[in-house]
Amino acid sequence: MDDDQLLYEGKAKSVFRTNVAGELRVVFRDDITAFNGGKKDILAGKGAYNARVSAFFFEYLEKNGIPTHFIRMEDERTMIVRELTMIPLEVIARNVAAGSIVKKFPFTEGQRIDPPVIVTDYKDDEHGDPSINDDLIIALGFLSPDDLREVRETTLKINTLLKDFFTKAGIELVDFKIEFGRSGDTICLGDEISMDSMRLWDLATGESLDKDVYRFGKGDVLSAYGRVVDKILQEN
Ligand code: 5GP
Repeated sequence: MDDDQLLYEGKAKSVFRTNVAGELRVVFRDDITAFNGGKKDILAGKGAYNARVSAFFFEYLEKNGIPTHFIRMEDERTMIVRELTMIPLEVIARNVAAGSIVKKFPFTEGQRIDPPVIVTDYKDDEHGDPSINDDLIIALGFLSPDDLREVRETTLKINTLLKDFFTKAGIELVDFKIEFGRSGDTICLGDEISMDSMRLWDLATGESLDKDVYRFGKGDVLSAYGRVVDKILQEN
């Protein structure tokens, strides 16, 4: 098998084949983008921060019974993962109203959403990741009704685990986006869990510690990402 064959290049990660069947190499690059690629930059060190946080949470979730694609870190920005057949959905859990939900529905920014809600987007950059509902997910054959139930339950469990962890670290988990894939019959958590894919607010000050700092020019992106890494390591 061809080692280092580029399989997929996303906006912030590149995925390569390895010479081990069923294992892929994910490189977290320093590229940062927002508004579907409308804003882009390179921030040296950002890839390593996201890789570290993702690896930490994949291990934390595995320990708590959630199957993930994580195998090991190869270096500070390179993760070895199990190859999954990805399900083309962005599953978003929300504990506090922010971002697109405030634009689309009569929530106010910062309004608590309890119990949390899960919304799903169809992963399709060309059409701006449109919202998709359960009937469409089933009609398109992305998930069976049973699998859809499992994805929903797993997402709620992940939300509780992450929320509890972040609260102890002095951070509010506002929302996050995850992606799933199949490894045989098992639905596994794939992709990443990082400051690019979560909304995190400092519990003491309310400051954003995530990609909103970049999206809306709220300050120094790398120092916000670094603060999350520090708080996670202190908590652990
Ligand atoms: P919103 O729908 O408010 O834009 O995003 C909700 C949450 O999902 C935020 O934490 C946001 O960062 C994350 N999210 C939504 N779409 C994407 C995406 O295409 N890529 C990444 N990395 N995160 C996303």
